[in-house]
Amino acid sequence: MTLSSMKTDKNTRKRKASSRRPRKDRLIQTRVPEDLETTLKEEAERRRLTVSHLIRSVLEDTFQLVDDVVTDFDKVVTDSVDLARNVSRNARKLAATSESLRPAKPGWDRSLGDIYGWNELVLQRAATCRRCGSDIESGERGFVGESDKARRHRVWLCRGCIDQVRPPVD
Ligand SMILES: [Zn+2]
Repeated sequence: MTLSSMKTDKNTRKRKASSRRPRKDRLIQTRVPEDLETTLKEEAERRRLTVSHLIRSVLEDTFQLVDDVVTDFDKVVTDSVDLARNVSRNARKLAATSESLRPAKPGWDRSLGDIYGWNELVLQRAATCRRCGSDIESGERGFVGESDKARRHRVWLCRGCIDQVRPPVD
């Protein structure tokens, strides 16, 4: 089956059609094997995200990792062979990231362990809430995570989720 035939994307399309404000997101269709589809659905359910948001988040993380490798090795990736090599080098790293994204307890996401605080901002550019996957539109308030890791991919939370992410109290 194609990913675009999944329920979440149908909803996105419906929302797009009825919304007065045109969305800038693009729809990409791809065919996936059945076992990958099952894995994606299970993982999305575990993280309480839609399949679309899960895929988007994994892709964003992947390209962020590739960017970091390129910077670390102080070289520019000029051809697809190098790019493929870097992607495969990061496959294990990505698998580890994916593992760490799993919430340890309901409401607390272990992947936020390096975040020491949240800054409330009025967004100029739209963003996506890491926790619930909802869109935070331009002009709305959102919370950006401040991390110990210099290169951490920026993490946003919506107002509805900020109170849900406090670490478990012992
Ligand atoms: Zn949220």
